[in-house]
Amino acid sequence: MADQAIFDKKNILVVGGAGFVGSHLCDELVKEAKVICLDNFLTGSESNITHLHQNSSFEFINHDINTSIELETRPELRDFKIEFQGIQEIYFLATPGSPKFYSDYSVETMMVNSLGLNNALQMALKYKAKLIYASSPAVYGDIEDGQRVKEDYVGSVDQLGPRAIYSEAKRFGETLVNNYRLKFDLDTKIVRIFNCYGPNMKLEDGRMIPELIKSALNNRDLVVFGQAEDIGSYLYISDLIQALVGTMNGSESGPINLASDAKYKFSEIADKIIELTESRSVITYHDRESIMAPQFLADITLAKESLGWFPITLLDQGLKNTIDYLSAQKGILQPK
Ligand code: NAD
Repeated sequence: MADQAIFDKKNILVVGGAGFVGSHLCDELVKEAKVICLDNFLTGSESNITHLHQNSSFEFINHDINTSIELETRPELRDFKIEFQGIQEIYFLATPGSPKFYSDYSVETMMVNSLGLNNALQMALKYKAKLIYASSPAVYGDIEDGQRVKEDYVGSVDQLGPRAIYSEAKRFGETLVNNYRLKFDLDTKIVRIFNCYGPNMKLEDGRMIPELIKSALNNRDLVVFGQAEDIGSYLYISDLIQALVGTMNGSESGPINLASDAKYKFSEIADKIIELTESRSVITYHDRESIMAPQFLADITLAKESLGWFPITLLDQGLKNTIDYLSAQKGILQPK
């Protein structure tokens, strides 16, 4: 199991650290640790981490994790003294997460959850570091909308269906992580992150909340895929970050569902976005496309009990923060 850090600050590696979740995680971790953010900008952005470059406890490595890397030999990491101190924690977040991005980067998604994850697990072995794997409810496959799912539900996935790229990649990833745990006694944790939203999501991400906000800010129709009465749950990014750090520091190896247990009708989300943006948009409802995730809900009893965690951000506040962020993005206002 993981060694204790012998220096004043831990060395933490965040693989996929320039993405939506990873950049918020780097912001949090750098308060108390030395953070190595590794990313190849496949779907992440330099702008998510620009403000961290002045911090001497933060270093960025532009690298594709599908190729193994010797961190000790990187001159930019000299001050992290990796040859003496090693790495204590690894967060593995590197995957295109939205259906749009994992369809565009289908093979890359499969490879990073196998080859890339294996390289990160090898680093965890070498340094006796703890490793968290960010998985997804996609592993549960197709479940009826509105149902709540517990971690022990064994899903089923059509391996040739449009969502299989992501679901099968995450299922393989979970099995790989679990077997490093069993075979090498590695301290690993698996979290299944349900719909998360907040600042640093990409404008072109394609998921429901940024798409609706974009349309509202442009006074265009809000196109909702699903019916007004359909139910969803949405976890604000700062709540997710607390859960990820809590998982790393805790003893539960998972899998752990991380989600909000507040549920909202699609119509409530769309109405709230129109209200907060003072938009003149109208809402239209359309059939969901086969690539879109089913809207089942998470049972988060395990997260509450094992981490002492529960989400605290109200939808209004989370949406306001996301709207403020997206409104300030170049290219948000589009010509009619
Ligand atoms: P994201 O696309 O914003 O971040 C992923 C990051 O990984 C990007 O910065 C990307 O450039 C990087 N990356 C991809 N391939 C890489 C490679 N080969 N080498 C190095 N870096 C690479 O996605 P996100 O929303 O921040 O998701 C982070 C993780 O959480 C993913 O594993 C995703 O599956 C999981 N997750 C997220 C959500 C959510 O709602 N955001 C839900 C479920 C699971």
